[in-house]
Amino acid sequence: MKISLEVLAWCSAPGGDGVWPLGMSSHKPQFDFVEFHILHHASERSLYGLWMIEELAQHGYKLNASQLYPRFHRLQKRGYLKRRDQVVDGKLRKYYRITPEGRVYLREQKRRLTELISEALSVNELSRALDSRRKREEAKRRSD
Ligand SMILES: [Zn+2]
Repeated sequence: MKISLEVLAWCSAPGGDGVWPLGMSSHKPQFDFVEFHILHHASERSLYGLWMIEELAQHGYKLNASQLYPRFHRLQKRGYLKRRDQVVDGKLRKYYRITPEGRVYLREQKRRLTELISEALSVNELSRALDSRRKREEAKRRSD
């Protein structure tokens, strides 16, 4: 699978919702950053819509429920996520967790992303990105 840098830049632009413009549907990206992000977190914990919306917002993706839920459903339909309903404070909450098939798919997507990043980023860009991740994680640990 080939991912063009143009698609990468567009999908990952801050404030972008990761949705390909409708007028360009014949050139659909083969990589959905939001979907990837959902699967990544669903591989670590059970998650629900609002949690995911807040998590995505921290990364600069402004999505609402009507943009998020179709992705949950798509991933569920493909067998990558399973849903478990639970009543929390008298309200039904839908939790999503990755399936074994989803893990296989996520691993493959990670491999593709790693290949692209290792080509697209210089060693300096890569180490700056890792530095700022370390700082974010440190700051988060201190605030917990
Ligand atoms: Zn995240």
